[in-house]
Amino acid sequence: MKNHKCIYCLQMKHEKDFNKEHVVPQMMGKYENGYVLSDFQVCQECNSYFSINVENIIALDSYEAFLRMQFRNTPMSDGRKLQGNRIRLIGDENIFKGVPFIVITDKDNPYRVRFESEPMVGIVNDVERQEYNYYTIDDLPEATEEVISKMKIAPSPIVNTGISKDDLDRVLIEKGYLKNSCYSYTEMSVADVFKEPDFTTKISFKIDSIMRRVCAKTVFNYLCYLNGKEFVLDSNFDNIRKYIRYGTWSEQLWFRYSKGPVSSVVMPNDTSHVVGYMWFPEDGQWILCGCLTWYGDLTYIFKLGETQKSLEKYNFLDSTKMACFNNVNRTIIVDDSVHVYGGRTSEIK
Ligand SMILES: [Zn+2]
Repeated sequence: MKNHKCIYCLQMKHEKDFNKEHVVPQMMGKYENGYVLSDFQVCQECNSYFSINVENIIALDSYEAFLRMQFRNTPMSDGRKLQGNRIRLIGDENIFKGVPFIVITDKDNPYRVRFESEPMVGIVNDVERQEYNYYTIDDLPEATEEVISKMKIAPSPIVNTGISKDDLDRVLIEKGYLKNSCYSYTEMSVADVFKEPDFTTKISFKIDSIMRRVCAKTVFNYLCYLNGKEFVLDSNFDNIRKYIRYGTWSEQLWFRYSKGPVSSVVMPNDTSHVVGYMWFPEDGQWILCGCLTWYGDLTYIFKLGETQKSLEKYNFLDSTKMACFNNVNRTIIVDDSVHVYGGRTSEIK
């Protein structure tokens, strides 16, 4: 039995304190023939820290989770709900404008998901355009004269998207909406309005540190998979390592993201992902970056290490490695060298 150093915490640990680490986190589905780090590279403690504190948190609460829900053959059981801390879907048309929606996986639906409105009360705002201001039952403000006057001329002054009638009546009376009402208060649900609810939503999402760390870990794992443990143990990578493991940001690092995949990468289909590393020009220098594209939609790019000067002893500078894998056959289908920015070793200054 021997001791080994973990690539994240850098602690020497006993063989039995290590387990397998998936290069691509399983929160994005399982991949047959997916890359796995074994041979005492990531310790159990780091591994379970990542699952609990990083991956599980965004598995159902991120833009990527929403993308994953919609694609078939990405195993996700029925009835899973998208959480709303990092992504929000808000109706953007007529009566739906301003209604927050919950997204739920539904295998019988052609899109694999269905939308349910969160329980809200809508008070008419623009009578002609049939637009409402929506509130949770706790946030409903006191009725003003202006609001009451609009309600008096609206055919449906109040919309209820799922609050029980007793609860809603109590609050409407309390806040002055039903005082001396000479308008008809009809409880109407969003579904009553349109027989076939087909409408656009606004999607807003945050890319927070948890999401960035999952992506950084995926590219760093891949770097380790391709170049070996010795390579990633280089102190050049201590900044990115600390960020992934402890969330401590260093001024030496940078993070960028862009819409779509990295320029020259051809995505096999729209459920594909790409992970890899590349050389990136900065101030006349080339720096090593990791990149990850989920569903061909958003690419996360990280500075991993310093300029080639300190890395050249590893002699791998002439290639940029990308792996494509997808959620259709769930296998990693390409493991090839792609020159993303056309920079070759000889041109690196
Ligand atoms: Zn560790």
